[in-house]
Amino acid sequence: MSLNLPEKIEHYIGGRHVPSADGATFGVADPVANKEYTRAAAGGPADIDRAVAAARDAFEAGPWPGLAARARAKILNAIADGIEARSSEIAAAETFDTGLPITQAKGQAARAAENFRYFADVIVAQHEDAFSTPAQMGYVLRKPAGVAGLITPWNTPFMLESWKLAPALASGCTLVLKPAEWTPLSASMLPAIMEEAGVPAGVFNIVHGIGEDAGAALVAHPDVPLISFTGETTTGKIIMRSASDHLKGLSMELGGKSPCVIFADADLDAAIDSAVFGVFSLNGERCTAGSRVLVEASIYDEVVSRIASRASKVKVGDPSDPETQLGALVHPEHYERVLSYVETGQREGARLAAGGSRPSSLTEGNYLAATVFADVKPEMRIFQEEIFGPVVGITPFASEDEAVALANNTAYGLAAYIWTSDLKRAHRVAGAVESGMTWVNSHNVRDLRTPFGGVKASGLGREGGQHSIDFYTESRIVHVALGDTHVPRFGA
Ligand code: NAD
Repeated sequence: MSLNLPEKIEHYIGGRHVPSADGATFGVADPVANKEYTRAAAGGPADIDRAVAAARDAFEAGPWPGLAARARAKILNAIADGIEARSSEIAAAETFDTGLPITQAKGQAARAAENFRYFADVIVAQHEDAFSTPAQMGYVLRKPAGVAGLITPWNTPFMLESWKLAPALASGCTLVLKPAEWTPLSASMLPAIMEEAGVPAGVFNIVHGIGEDAGAALVAHPDVPLISFTGETTTGKIIMRSASDHLKGLSMELGGKSPCVIFADADLDAAIDSAVFGVFSLNGERCTAGSRVLVEASIYDEVVSRIASRASKVKVGDPSDPETQLGALVHPEHYERVLSYVETGQREGARLAAGGSRPSSLTEGNYLAATVFADVKPEMRIFQEEIFGPVVGITPFASEDEAVALANNTAYGLAAYIWTSDLKRAHRVAGAVESGMTWVNSHNVRDLRTPFGGVKASGLGREGGQHSIDFYTESRIVHVALGDTHVPRFGA
Protein backbone atom coordinates (compact mmCIF):
# COMPACT_ATOMS: atom_id res chain seq x y z
CA MET A 1 0.00 0.00 0.00
CA SER A 2 1.27 3.48 -0.77
CA LEU A 3 2.05 5.52 2.26
CA ASN A 4 1.50 9.26 2.63
CA LEU A 5 4.45 10.47 4.63
CA PRO A 6 3.84 13.61 6.68
CA GLU A 7 5.97 16.67 5.94
CA LYS A 8 6.19 17.27 9.67
CA ILE A 9 5.08 15.60 12.88
CA GLU A 10 3.84 17.92 15.61
CA HIS A 11 2.86 17.53 19.23
CA TYR A 12 -0.82 16.98 19.98
CA ILE A 13 -1.84 19.06 22.97
CA GLY A 14 -5.37 19.90 24.14
CA GLY A 15 -6.85 18.62 20.87
CA ARG A 16 -4.53 20.66 18.61
CA HIS A 17 -1.45 19.87 16.54
CA VAL A 18 1.24 22.29 17.68
CA PRO A 19 4.96 22.86 17.13
CA SER A 20 7.42 23.02 20.01
CA ALA A 21 7.31 26.24 22.03
CA ASP A 22 10.84 27.06 20.83
CA GLY A 23 10.25 25.73 17.29
CA ALA A 24 12.85 22.94 17.71
CA THR A 25 12.59 19.83 15.51
CA PHE A 26 14.58 16.64 14.92
CA GLY A 27 15.04 14.55 11.78
CA VAL A 28 13.44 11.11 11.45
CA ALA A 29 14.85 8.53 9.02
CA ASP A 30 13.69 5.13 7.78
CA PRO A 31 15.92 2.07 8.32
CA VAL A 32 16.15 0.96 4.67
CA ALA A 33 17.33 4.15 2.92
CA ASN A 34 18.52 5.72 6.19
CA LYS A 35 17.27 9.02 4.79
CA GLU A 36 15.45 11.69 6.73
CA TYR A 37 11.81 11.57 5.60
CA THR A 38 10.27 14.07 8.01
CA ARG A 39 11.01 16.36 10.91
CA ALA A 40 9.28 15.94 14.24
CA ALA A 41 8.71 18.54 16.93
CA ALA A 42 11.42 18.22 19.60
CA GLY A 43 9.63 18.73 22.89
CA GLY A 44 11.19 20.12 26.03
CA PRO A 45 10.00 21.21 29.48
CA ALA A 46 7.79 24.02 28.09
CA ASP A 47 5.90 21.56 25.84
CA ILE A 48 5.54 19.03 28.62
CA ASP A 49 4.16 21.84 30.83
CA ARG A 50 1.54 22.70 28.20
CA ALA A 51 0.57 19.06 27.66
CA VAL A 52 0.35 18.29 31.38
CA ALA A 53 -1.73 21.44 31.93
CA ALA A 54 -4.15 20.32 29.19
CA ALA A 55 -4.35 16.81 30.64
CA ARG A 56 -4.81 18.14 34.14
CA ASP A 57 -7.57 20.47 33.04
CA ALA A 58 -9.31 17.58 31.25
CA PHE A 59 -8.96 15.49 34.39
CA GLU A 60 -10.23 18.12 36.82
CA ALA A 61 -12.85 19.92 34.74
CA GLY A 62 -13.69 17.51 31.92
CA PRO A 63 -16.15 14.60 31.77
CA TRP A 64 -13.64 11.78 31.22
CA PRO A 65 -12.81 10.54 34.75
CA GLY A 66 -16.48 10.59 35.77
CA LEU A 67 -17.98 8.88 32.71
CA ALA A 68 -19.90 5.69 33.34
CA ALA A 69 -17.86 2.62 32.48
CA ARG A 70 -20.16 1.74 29.58
CA ALA A 71 -19.73 5.20 28.03
CA ARG A 72 -15.95 5.00 28.24
CA ALA A 73 -16.03 1.44 26.92
CA LYS A 74 -18.00 2.59 23.87
CA ILE A 75 -15.28 5.12 23.09
CA LEU A 76 -12.55 2.50 23.58
CA ASN A 77 -14.35 0.22 21.13
CA ALA A 78 -14.61 3.14 18.70
CA ILE A 79 -10.82 3.61 19.00
CA ALA A 80 -10.41 -0.09 18.15
CA ASP A 81 -12.74 0.40 15.15
CA GLY A 82 -10.60 3.34 14.01
CA ILE A 83 -7.43 1.27 14.28
CA GLU A 84 -8.98 -1.62 12.39
CA ALA A 85 -10.25 0.69 9.65
CA ARG A 86 -6.68 1.99 9.20
CA SER A 87 -4.84 -1.24 9.96
CA SER A 88 -3.15 -1.51 6.52
CA GLU A 89 -1.99 2.10 6.74
CA ILE A 90 -0.75 1.66 10.32
CA ALA A 91 1.11 -1.56 9.45
CA ALA A 92 2.68 0.10 6.38
CA ALA A 93 3.79 3.09 8.47
CA GLU A 94 5.20 0.83 11.16
CA THR A 95 7.12 -1.22 8.60
CA PHE A 96 8.47 1.92 6.91
CA ASP A 97 9.54 3.56 10.16
CA THR A 98 10.84 0.56 12.17
CA GLY A 99 11.94 -1.96 9.51
CA LEU A 100 9.65 -4.68 10.90
CA PRO A 101 8.49 -7.15 8.24
CA ILE A 102 5.05 -6.16 6.97
CA THR A 103 3.37 -9.47 7.83
CA GLN A 104 4.46 -9.05 11.44
CA ALA A 105 3.52 -5.34 11.54
CA LYS A 106 -0.02 -6.32 10.48
CA GLY A 107 -0.26 -8.61 13.48
CA GLN A 108 0.87 -5.78 15.75
CA ALA A 109 -1.84 -3.40 14.44
CA ALA A 110 -4.50 -6.07 15.04
CA ARG A 111 -3.20 -6.65 18.54
CA ALA A 112 -3.32 -2.90 19.26
CA ALA A 113 -7.04 -2.82 18.39
CA GLU A 114 -7.61 -5.89 20.56
CA ASN A 115 -5.98 -4.12 23.52
CA PHE A 116 -8.63 -1.37 23.38
CA ARG A 117 -11.49 -3.88 23.03
CA TYR A 118 -10.17 -5.95 25.88
CA PHE A 119 -9.96 -3.02 28.34
CA ALA A 120 -13.42 -1.86 27.27
CA ASP A 121 -14.68 -5.26 28.44
CA VAL A 122 -12.63 -5.14 31.64
CA ILE A 123 -14.10 -1.87 32.90
CA VAL A 124 -17.67 -2.86 32.10
CA ALA A 125 -17.23 -6.10 34.05
CA GLN A 126 -15.30 -4.40 36.88
CA HIS A 127 -16.58 -4.83 40.43
CA GLU A 128 -15.27 -3.60 43.74
CA ASP A 129 -14.55 -5.33 47.00
CA ALA A 130 -16.71 -4.94 50.07
CA PHE A 131 -15.78 -6.22 53.56
CA SER A 132 -18.27 -6.69 56.30
CA THR A 133 -18.17 -7.64 59.96
CA PRO A 134 -21.10 -7.36 62.44
CA ALA A 135 -19.66 -4.01 63.58
CA GLN A 136 -18.36 -2.47 60.45
CA MET A 137 -18.70 -2.49 56.74
CA GLY A 138 -16.01 -1.39 54.32
CA TYR A 139 -16.16 -0.77 50.61
CA VAL A 140 -13.58 0.19 48.03
CA LEU A 141 -13.87 3.24 45.82
CA ARG A 142 -11.70 3.07 42.75
CA LYS A 143 -10.58 6.44 41.40
CA PRO A 144 -8.47 7.21 38.34
CA ALA A 145 -5.03 8.30 39.53
CA GLY A 146 -4.78 11.54 37.50
CA VAL A 147 -2.48 12.49 34.62
CA ALA A 148 -0.47 9.46 33.50
CA GLY A 149 2.90 9.82 31.79
CA LEU A 150 3.48 7.10 29.19
CA ILE A 151 6.98 6.59 27.77
CA THR A 152 7.43 3.98 25.05
CA PRO A 153 10.26 2.38 23.02
CA TRP A 154 10.83 1.99 19.28
CA ASN A 155 10.27 -1.74 18.99
CA THR A 156 6.65 -2.47 17.99
CA PRO A 157 5.87 1.16 18.93
CA PHE A 158 2.17 1.28 18.01
CA MET A 159 1.31 -1.94 19.83
CA LEU A 160 3.27 -0.94 22.93
CA GLU A 161 1.62 2.49 22.97
CA SER A 162 -1.82 0.84 22.81
CA TRP A 163 -0.77 -1.39 25.67
CA LYS A 164 -0.50 1.64 27.94
CA LEU A 165 -3.10 3.92 26.34
CA ALA A 166 -5.95 1.42 26.57
CA PRO A 167 -5.83 0.75 30.34
CA ALA A 168 -4.96 4.39 31.16
CA LEU A 169 -8.01 5.65 29.24
CA ALA A 170 -10.20 2.79 30.47
CA SER A 171 -9.32 3.73 34.06
CA GLY A 172 -10.42 7.34 33.53
CA CYS A 173 -6.93 8.85 33.55
CA THR A 174 -5.91 11.60 31.19
CA LEU A 175 -2.41 11.28 29.79
CA VAL A 176 0.68 12.50 28.01
CA LEU A 177 2.39 10.02 25.69
CA LYS A 178 6.09 10.44 24.82
CA PRO A 179 6.79 8.07 21.90
CA ALA A 180 10.30 6.90 20.99
CA GLU A 181 12.18 9.44 18.89
CA TRP A 182 13.38 6.93 16.28
CA THR A 183 9.82 5.85 15.39
CA PRO A 184 7.21 8.61 15.80
CA LEU A 185 5.26 7.87 12.60
CA SER A 186 2.54 5.45 13.74
CA ALA A 187 1.89 7.50 16.90
CA SER A 188 1.16 10.49 14.65
CA MET A 189 -1.92 8.58 13.41
CA LEU A 190 -3.42 8.37 16.89
CA PRO A 191 -4.88 11.90 17.22
CA ALA A 192 -7.28 11.40 14.28
CA ILE A 193 -8.35 8.01 15.67
CA MET A 194 -8.96 9.48 19.13
CA GLU A 195 -10.91 12.46 17.77
CA GLU A 196 -13.14 10.28 15.59
CA ALA A 197 -13.82 7.96 18.51
CA GLY A 198 -14.97 10.90 20.66
CA VAL A 199 -12.11 11.19 23.15
CA PRO A 200 -12.51 14.72 24.57
CA ALA A 201 -9.76 17.26 23.85
CA GLY A 202 -7.02 17.25 26.50
CA VAL A 203 -7.59 13.63 27.59
CA PHE A 204 -4.98 12.29 25.17
CA ASN A 205 -1.83 14.32 24.46
CA ILE A 206 1.43 13.53 22.67
CA VAL A 207 4.76 15.26 23.13
CA HIS A 208 7.44 14.03 20.75
CA GLY A 209 11.11 14.45 21.49
CA ILE A 210 14.39 13.11 22.73
CA GLY A 211 14.22 11.00 25.90
CA GLU A 212 16.64 13.10 27.91
CA ASP A 213 14.60 16.26 27.14
CA ALA A 214 10.89 15.50 26.67
CA GLY A 215 10.91 12.16 28.55
CA ALA A 216 12.91 13.48 31.48
CA ALA A 217 10.66 16.57 31.78
CA LEU A 218 7.56 14.34 31.87
CA VAL A 219 9.06 12.18 34.61
CA ALA A 220 10.06 15.27 36.63
CA HIS A 221 6.69 17.03 36.31
CA PRO A 222 4.99 17.42 39.71
CA ASP A 223 1.46 17.11 38.26
CA VAL A 224 2.08 13.63 36.80
CA PRO A 225 1.61 11.09 39.60
CA LEU A 226 2.21 7.99 37.45
CA ILE A 227 4.86 6.96 34.94
CA SER A 228 4.48 3.82 32.87
CA PHE A 229 7.79 3.17 31.13
CA THR A 230 8.92 0.53 28.66
CA GLY A 231 12.53 0.62 27.57
CA GLU A 232 16.05 -0.19 28.60
CA THR A 233 16.99 -1.12 32.14
CA THR A 234 19.56 1.70 32.36
CA THR A 235 16.90 4.27 31.35
CA GLY A 236 14.51 2.73 33.88
CA LYS A 237 17.02 3.34 36.66
CA ILE A 238 17.41 7.01 35.69
CA ILE A 239 13.62 7.41 35.64
CA MET A 240 13.22 5.79 39.06
CA ARG A 241 15.73 8.20 40.57
CA SER A 242 13.97 11.24 39.12
CA ALA A 243 10.48 9.95 39.97
CA SER A 244 11.44 9.46 43.61
CA ASP A 245 11.41 13.25 44.15
CA HIS A 246 7.62 13.18 43.84
CA LEU A 247 7.06 9.58 45.01
CA LYS A 248 5.45 8.66 41.70
CA GLY A 249 3.77 5.38 40.95
CA LEU A 250 6.00 3.47 38.52
CA SER A 251 5.53 0.61 36.14
CA MET A 252 8.83 -0.49 34.62
CA GLU A 253 8.91 -2.90 31.67
CA LEU A 254 12.62 -3.30 30.98
CA GLY A 255 15.14 -5.43 29.10
CA GLY A 256 15.52 -9.18 28.86
CA LYS A 257 17.90 -12.02 28.03
CA SER A 258 15.42 -14.84 28.10
CA PRO A 259 16.39 -18.53 28.07
CA CYS A 260 14.82 -21.16 25.83
CA VAL A 261 15.63 -24.47 27.56
CA ILE A 262 15.42 -27.60 25.39
CA PHE A 263 15.59 -31.01 27.10
CA ALA A 264 16.41 -34.19 25.16
CA ASP A 265 12.86 -35.53 25.62
CA ALA A 266 11.27 -32.46 23.98
CA ASP A 267 9.28 -32.44 20.76
CA LEU A 268 12.36 -31.27 18.88
CA ASP A 269 10.62 -30.10 15.73
CA ALA A 270 8.35 -27.80 17.72
CA ALA A 271 11.18 -26.66 20.01
CA ILE A 272 13.36 -25.69 17.07
CA ASP A 273 10.49 -23.87 15.31
CA SER A 274 9.93 -21.94 18.52
CA ALA A 275 13.61 -21.20 19.19
CA VAL A 276 14.11 -19.87 15.66
CA PHE A 277 10.89 -17.83 15.59
CA GLY A 278 11.41 -16.63 19.18
CA VAL A 279 14.65 -14.84 18.43
CA PHE A 280 14.37 -13.85 14.75
CA SER A 281 10.76 -12.61 14.60
CA LEU A 282 10.28 -8.84 15.05
CA ASN A 283 13.92 -8.57 13.85
CA GLY A 284 15.04 -9.94 17.21
CA GLU A 285 14.13 -6.49 18.58
CA ARG A 286 11.83 -8.08 21.08
CA CYS A 287 12.02 -7.79 24.85
CA THR A 288 10.89 -11.41 25.32
CA ALA A 289 13.20 -12.86 22.63
CA GLY A 290 14.58 -16.27 23.59
CA SER A 291 18.11 -15.07 22.92
CA ARG A 292 19.87 -17.80 24.95
CA VAL A 293 19.07 -21.32 23.82
CA LEU A 294 20.16 -23.89 26.43
CA VAL A 295 20.30 -27.44 25.10
CA GLU A 296 20.78 -30.80 26.83
CA ALA A 297 24.21 -32.22 25.92
CA SER A 298 22.95 -35.42 24.26
CA ILE A 299 21.08 -33.46 21.57
CA TYR A 300 23.34 -30.40 21.51
CA ASP A 301 25.16 -31.01 18.19
CA GLU A 302 21.94 -31.89 16.40
CA VAL A 303 20.10 -28.81 17.73
CA VAL A 304 22.98 -26.46 16.91
CA SER A 305 23.15 -27.73 13.35
CA ARG A 306 19.37 -27.61 12.86
CA ILE A 307 19.03 -24.06 14.26
CA ALA A 308 22.02 -22.88 12.19
CA SER A 309 20.60 -24.44 9.05
CA ARG A 310 17.19 -22.84 9.62
CA ALA A 311 18.79 -19.46 10.43
CA SER A 312 20.77 -19.49 7.20
CA LYS A 313 17.46 -19.82 5.35
CA VAL A 314 15.58 -17.05 7.21
CA LYS A 315 14.61 -14.63 4.47
CA VAL A 316 16.21 -11.24 5.14
CA GLY A 317 15.12 -8.32 3.02
CA ASP A 318 12.89 -5.39 2.26
CA PRO A 319 10.51 -5.07 5.22
CA SER A 320 7.58 -4.23 2.92
CA ASP A 321 7.93 -7.53 1.01
CA PRO A 322 5.40 -10.07 2.37
CA GLU A 323 8.00 -12.83 1.87
CA THR A 324 10.46 -11.15 4.24
CA GLN A 325 10.94 -12.79 7.62
CA LEU A 326 13.70 -10.54 8.97
CA GLY A 327 13.69 -6.86 8.01
CA ALA A 328 16.01 -3.90 8.64
CA LEU A 329 17.18 -2.95 12.12
CA VAL A 330 15.63 0.26 13.33
CA HIS A 331 18.52 2.74 13.17
CA PRO A 332 22.19 2.82 12.09
CA GLU A 333 23.24 3.45 15.70
CA HIS A 334 21.40 0.33 16.87
CA TYR A 335 22.67 -1.63 13.86
CA GLU A 336 26.27 -0.75 14.78
CA ARG A 337 25.61 -1.81 18.36
CA VAL A 338 24.26 -5.21 17.26
CA LEU A 339 27.21 -5.68 14.87
CA SER A 340 29.61 -4.86 17.68
CA TYR A 341 28.10 -7.75 19.68
CA VAL A 342 28.73 -10.07 16.74
CA GLU A 343 32.39 -9.03 16.85
CA THR A 344 32.46 -9.39 20.63
CA GLY A 345 31.07 -12.94 20.37
CA GLN A 346 33.80 -13.93 17.94
CA ARG A 347 36.49 -12.27 20.04
CA GLU A 348 35.21 -14.04 23.15
CA GLY A 349 35.62 -17.40 21.40
CA ALA A 350 32.02 -18.37 20.66
CA ARG A 351 31.60 -20.38 17.44
CA LEU A 352 29.78 -18.53 14.67
CA ALA A 353 27.44 -21.15 13.21
CA ALA A 354 25.31 -18.94 10.92
CA GLY A 355 25.06 -15.32 9.74
CA GLY A 356 27.30 -12.74 11.35
CA SER A 357 27.23 -10.11 8.61
CA ARG A 358 25.14 -8.19 6.12
CA PRO A 359 23.67 -10.47 3.41
CA SER A 360 25.72 -9.77 0.26
CA SER A 361 22.63 -9.04 -1.84
CA LEU A 362 21.59 -6.16 0.45
CA THR A 363 24.14 -3.42 0.03
CA GLU A 364 22.18 -0.66 1.81
CA GLY A 365 19.96 -0.56 4.86
CA ASN A 366 20.47 -1.90 8.38
CA TYR A 367 20.41 -5.60 7.46
CA LEU A 368 21.99 -8.46 9.37
CA ALA A 369 21.63 -12.14 8.49
CA ALA A 370 20.06 -14.29 11.20
CA THR A 371 23.08 -15.00 13.40
CA VAL A 372 23.78 -18.07 15.53
CA PHE A 373 26.61 -18.51 18.01
CA ALA A 374 27.29 -21.96 19.47
CA ASP A 375 29.43 -22.93 22.48
CA VAL A 376 28.52 -19.70 24.27
CA LYS A 377 29.86 -19.65 27.83
CA PRO A 378 28.02 -17.94 30.69
CA GLU A 379 30.87 -15.52 31.36
CA MET A 380 30.71 -14.14 27.81
CA ARG A 381 29.10 -10.77 27.24
CA ILE A 382 26.90 -12.23 24.49
CA PHE A 383 25.41 -14.57 27.13
CA GLN A 384 24.89 -11.81 29.70
CA GLU A 385 23.89 -8.66 27.80
CA GLU A 386 20.77 -7.85 25.83
CA ILE A 387 21.69 -7.56 22.12
CA PHE A 388 18.15 -6.77 20.92
CA GLY A 389 18.78 -8.00 17.39
CA PRO A 390 18.73 -11.22 15.34
CA VAL A 391 21.50 -12.92 17.30
CA VAL A 392 21.11 -16.11 19.35
CA GLY A 393 23.63 -17.89 21.55
CA ILE A 394 23.46 -21.65 22.18
CA THR A 395 24.91 -23.27 25.31
CA PRO A 396 24.96 -26.96 26.35
CA PHE A 397 23.91 -28.28 29.78
CA ALA A 398 24.42 -31.67 31.40
CA SER A 399 21.62 -31.81 34.00
CA GLU A 400 18.36 -30.18 35.04
CA ASP A 401 20.17 -28.37 37.86
CA GLU A 402 22.72 -26.97 35.45
CA ALA A 403 19.95 -25.90 33.04
CA VAL A 404 18.24 -23.92 35.81
CA ALA A 405 21.54 -22.42 37.00
CA LEU A 406 22.38 -21.29 33.46
CA ALA A 407 18.87 -19.96 32.87
CA ASN A 408 19.17 -17.84 36.03
CA ASN A 409 22.75 -16.72 35.38
CA THR A 410 21.93 -13.21 34.08
CA ALA A 411 20.80 -9.94 35.61
CA TYR A 412 17.49 -10.20 33.72
CA GLY A 413 14.30 -12.19 34.35
CA LEU A 414 11.62 -11.33 31.81
CA ALA A 415 10.58 -14.52 29.97
CA ALA A 416 11.58 -18.19 29.79
CA TYR A 417 10.63 -21.02 27.44
CA ILE A 418 10.89 -24.67 28.49
CA TRP A 419 10.68 -27.62 26.15
CA THR A 420 10.28 -31.09 27.68
CA SER A 421 7.81 -33.98 27.57
CA ASP A 422 8.28 -34.72 31.27
CA LEU A 423 5.36 -33.10 33.08
CA LYS A 424 6.98 -33.17 36.50
CA ARG A 425 10.19 -31.64 35.23
CA ALA A 426 8.26 -28.96 33.32
CA HIS A 427 6.60 -27.75 36.53
CA ARG A 428 9.81 -28.04 38.57
CA VAL A 429 11.81 -25.98 36.11
CA ALA A 430 9.00 -23.44 35.59
CA GLY A 431 9.01 -22.85 39.35
CA ALA A 432 12.80 -22.60 39.57
CA VAL A 433 13.47 -20.29 36.63
CA GLU A 434 13.66 -16.63 37.66
CA SER A 435 11.34 -15.03 35.11
CA GLY A 436 8.14 -13.01 35.18
CA MET A 437 6.61 -15.10 32.40
CA THR A 438 7.33 -18.71 31.51
CA TRP A 439 5.98 -20.70 28.57
CA VAL A 440 6.12 -24.49 28.64
CA ASN A 441 6.09 -26.25 25.26
CA SER A 442 4.80 -23.06 23.69
CA HIS A 443 6.16 -19.89 22.26
CA ASN A 444 5.20 -16.36 23.16
CA VAL A 445 1.41 -16.48 23.04
CA ARG A 446 -0.19 -14.32 25.69
CA ASP A 447 -3.70 -14.14 27.07
CA LEU A 448 -4.38 -10.43 27.68
CA ARG A 449 -5.75 -11.15 31.16
CA THR A 450 -2.43 -12.44 32.46
CA PRO A 451 0.23 -10.43 34.31
CA PHE A 452 3.01 -9.13 32.07
CA GLY A 453 6.36 -8.08 33.49
CA GLY A 454 9.75 -9.17 34.67
CA VAL A 455 11.73 -9.94 37.80
CA LYS A 456 15.29 -8.82 38.62
CA ALA A 457 16.61 -6.22 36.15
CA SER A 458 13.67 -6.81 33.78
CA GLY A 459 11.25 -4.62 35.63
CA LEU A 460 9.06 -3.61 38.45
CA GLY A 461 5.31 -4.05 38.69
CA ARG A 462 2.99 -5.90 36.34
CA GLU A 463 0.88 -4.72 33.45
CA GLY A 464 -1.89 -6.63 31.70
CA GLY A 465 -5.48 -7.27 32.74
CA GLN A 466 -6.50 -6.22 36.22
CA HIS A 467 -2.86 -5.35 37.03
CA SER A 468 -3.02 -2.44 34.60
CA ILE A 469 -6.29 -1.17 36.04
CA ASP A 470 -4.79 -1.38 39.55
CA PHE A 471 -1.82 0.71 38.34
CA TYR A 472 -3.90 3.50 36.78
CA THR A 473 -6.38 3.76 39.66
CA GLU A 474 -6.23 4.39 43.38
CA SER A 475 -8.21 2.06 45.62
CA ARG A 476 -9.72 3.95 48.51
CA ILE A 477 -11.39 2.12 51.36
CA VAL A 478 -14.37 3.58 53.22
CA HIS A 479 -15.09 2.12 56.69
CA VAL A 480 -18.65 2.56 58.03
CA ALA A 481 -19.80 1.67 61.53
CA LEU A 482 -22.99 -0.42 61.61
CA GLY A 483 -23.90 0.29 65.24
CA ASP A 484 -22.68 2.23 68.24
CA THR A 485 -18.93 2.65 68.26
CA HIS A 486 -17.14 2.12 71.55
CA VAL A 487 -14.13 4.38 71.59
CA PRO A 488 -11.63 4.50 74.50
CA ARG A 489 -12.54 7.77 76.24
CA PHE A 490 -9.17 9.54 76.45
CA GLY A 491 -9.31 12.72 78.51
CA ALA A 492 -12.93 12.11 79.56
P1 NAD B 1 15.19 3.42 25.73
O1 NAD B 1 15.26 3.19 27.19
O2 NAD B 1 16.39 3.98 25.06
O3 NAD B 1 14.00 4.41 25.35
C1 NAD B 1 12.67 4.14 25.71
C2 NAD B 1 11.92 5.47 25.82
O4 NAD B 1 12.46 6.20 26.92
C3 NAD B 1 12.04 6.37 24.60
O5 NAD B 1 10.80 7.02 24.38
C4 NAD B 1 13.10 7.36 25.03
O6 NAD B 1 13.01 8.60 24.36
C5 NAD B 1 12.78 7.51 26.51
N1 NAD B 1 13.91 7.99 27.33
C6 NAD B 1 15.23 7.85 27.12
N2 NAD B 1 15.93 8.45 28.11
C7 NAD B 1 15.02 8.97 28.97
C8 NAD B 1 15.13 9.69 30.20
N3 NAD B 1 16.30 10.02 30.74
N4 NAD B 1 13.99 10.06 30.83
C9 NAD B 1 12.78 9.73 30.31
N5 NAD B 1 12.62 9.07 29.14
C10 NAD B 1 13.73 8.67 28.49
O7 NAD B 1 14.75 2.03 25.10
P2 NAD B 1 14.64 1.67 23.55
O8 NAD B 1 16.03 1.49 23.02
O9 NAD B 1 13.70 2.61 22.90
O10 NAD B 1 13.91 0.24 23.61
C11 NAD B 1 14.56 -0.98 23.71
C12 NAD B 1 14.52 -1.51 25.13
O11 NAD B 1 13.18 -1.64 25.57
C13 NAD B 1 15.11 -2.90 25.25
O12 NAD B 1 15.92 -2.96 26.40
C14 NAD B 1 13.89 -3.80 25.44
O13 NAD B 1 14.09 -5.02 26.10
C15 NAD B 1 12.99 -2.90 26.20
N6 NAD B 1 11.60 -3.35 26.07
C16 NAD B 1 10.99 -3.94 27.14
C17 NAD B 1 9.70 -4.40 27.03
C18 NAD B 1 9.00 -5.03 28.21
O14 NAD B 1 7.79 -5.10 28.17
N7 NAD B 1 9.70 -5.46 29.23
C19 NAD B 1 9.01 -4.28 25.83
C20 NAD B 1 9.66 -3.69 24.74
C21 NAD B 1 10.96 -3.21 24.88
